[in-house]
Amino acid sequence: MASMNAYLDDFGKITVWVNRNFYGGKTDWFCITGDHGFSIDLVITGIEEHADMIRYDMTSPILDFGTSYMVREQHGLSVPLEWRMIVNTKQFSERFTYEGNDLGSTYHPSYTDFALWAPTAVTVTLRIRSGRRLMAFPMLRGDKGVWRIRVNGDHRHATYTYLIERNGVITESLDPYAYSSTANGRESAVIDLEAVRSIKDYPVSGSPYETDAVIYEANVRDMTSNASTGTKTHGKFVSLTEEGTSFREMPTGLSYLKSLGVTHIQLMPVMDFSTVEEFHPEKNYNWGYDPMQYLTPEGSYSTDPDNPYSRVTELRRLVCAIHKQGLKVNLDVVFNHIYDMGTSPFEAILPYYYFRYNERGYLSNGSYCGNDIASEKPMVRKYIIDTIRSLMTIYGVDGFRFDLMGILDVDTMNQIRTAARRIKANAMIYGEGWDMPTVLDGSRKATIMNQNQMPGIGHFNDYFRDVVKGKTSDDQKYDRGYVTGDTGQSFNMLGALSGSVLSQYCRRFESPCQSINALETHDNNTIWDKMHFCCGNEDRNTRMKRQKMLIAATMVAQGVPFIHAGMEYCGTKNDNSNSYNSGDEINQMNWQRALLNRDVVEYTKKCIALRKKYAAFRLHDAKEIEESLHLSVSEGGVVFYDIEKNDPKTETEFVRVIINPTFDGKYYTFEPGWHLLLDYDGNEREERTASISVPPLSVIVCAR
Ligand code: CA
Repeated sequence: MASMNAYLDDFGKITVWVNRNFYGGKTDWFCITGDHGFSIDLVITGIEEHADMIRYDMTSPILDFGTSYMVREQHGLSVPLEWRMIVNTKQFSERFTYEGNDLGSTYHPSYTDFALWAPTAVTVTLRIRSGRRLMAFPMLRGDKGVWRIRVNGDHRHATYTYLIERNGVITESLDPYAYSSTANGRESAVIDLEAVRSIKDYPVSGSPYETDAVIYEANVRDMTSNASTGTKTHGKFVSLTEEGTSFREMPTGLSYLKSLGVTHIQLMPVMDFSTVEEFHPEKNYNWGYDPMQYLTPEGSYSTDPDNPYSRVTELRRLVCAIHKQGLKVNLDVVFNHIYDMGTSPFEAILPYYYFRYNERGYLSNGSYCGNDIASEKPMVRKYIIDTIRSLMTIYGVDGFRFDLMGILDVDTMNQIRTAARRIKANAMIYGEGWDMPTVLDGSRKATIMNQNQMPGIGHFNDYFRDVVKGKTSDDQKYDRGYVTGDTGQSFNMLGALSGSVLSQYCRRFESPCQSINALETHDNNTIWDKMHFCCGNEDRNTRMKRQKMLIAATMVAQGVPFIHAGMEYCGTKNDNSNSYNSGDEINQMNWQRALLNRDVVEYTKKCIALRKKYAAFRLHDAKEIEESLHLSVSEGGVVFYDIEKNDPKTETEFVRVIINPTFDGKYYTFEPGWHLLLDYDGNEREERTASISVPPLSVIVCAR
């Protein structure tokens, strides 16, 4: 602990702490000093004695941002005045909120412009490496605390950092607005975006309604890391662009994604994360929820991590390749925390601004990752929105899944959706609306609780998950849901099927487009592994039947269906419930297993096709669901889920789903004229009948 620290926490207010080991912490006067002999005596307004320190509150004269000041005391000790919580005041925001769109580096063949927002910096120097030359240019401070420099010449392949001076210390930093970097984030890179945009895209048209989507969650590395994928490379962006690969006639990689019939591929984090060494990715594994840079793609997924153009062009090629298959791409983005705050550009550029602090000055840690990004501050919000916009315009992505969205604030999420929908009219925005203990008023958090303040933004529906499959955390893995055998949940199942929009069944959402119906995601045990516990007394064949029912239930329910990669082949992680760094062996797509359980894969495809064919499962608003659904529980806990929907395209007026999670076969006689849309094997049948047989452990769908 230093003998003395001096802080500027508000306009007109300086706080000094003096250690008791220095003259007992007692000092009679302080003054503030600056350049050219500037010196003003400070007025002490309060003294507070603590065990090891004494705190002095003082009034402050008007000070210039971008100037170094020292605080000096009676005995001659002099320390830098640190610009601290003043950056979180309203007055600071009013003075320094910048609305321009030129932050970062902007390439031009004959010059490159650099702009950095750093209001409390005293000097900023651009350190640029171009060709064989290493150069340094002092940047000029302009309006709103933005520092700028234009460097003449062609710097298409330049890399750079900023040297930021503040409080007598110089910190080197990456550019948070950089489009790329060298390997492991050593230096930011100038990028000629034409090199990225010129890669041909294949725009995918699609429905404006989220409920028409079928989301499939995949990890770039896992999709091709298995040697039997048959791709030329493994685990890279480009590996997943290879067409026509297969394992014993079963499509793999990109072709496998295409074969399923899903509409959206949700890629687990592809922007730069920290913990995989990019030159030697085989030495580490990580899902990527350890963000480092938000606008720079992850280098370990590129073929040449030290060439900044490699990662950007290859991510673009991946998005375009998925589009070419007629599928859209949603990116999983991790704006709730940063992996290493100490080395992050945010801390280097403007300390105390980008993260949340509690009243005592400690970091908020609602993310349980050490820090929470303060999305509600104007320039943080701007950064997130700018990033979303750039990812859409540069790479052509179609939507975003927000990791721990509940850390972010309602206004930021709404502005993100507006900005995204201005670029793509049907951009999907959804995330984990969990209520985390972050330092933000509950009414402002982007949580499920506040869903009505965020129209059109989706939330993972844990009610759906827990009712249908059973609770999912480690200490609840023995818990059963309706489809895994707890028929006591049959009434709750009605709510789960209705998109959680009906007041009589535990209403949670204004609209079904807000209910992301995910039974399995990358987190927690796979369904198959959970059933080792909650259905551990049942044989493999029985559990396979339940797996198929879970898939069918997801596809017939109102809301937005979501499949985690492998769920369609009874994927296992060997009971590993948190495999974020568990390596390729555990996490990779297992094509051998997919082949072994191919009937489940085929069944999944049929369920997806069923959903896409019949509008009854994809109702767009709560009113329609209220008017069209008839839900009931029959003898033994069998659920009847009827949807009245005149669908001229398929010539159906009435769809009936019967879910039988019991070990007894059921037999029903209705009025004549029914035909099966989904039989026990997932097939549609032409013949008309009045009697419907529902085998044990099955989902049957019929219509008339
Ligand atoms: Ca990285």
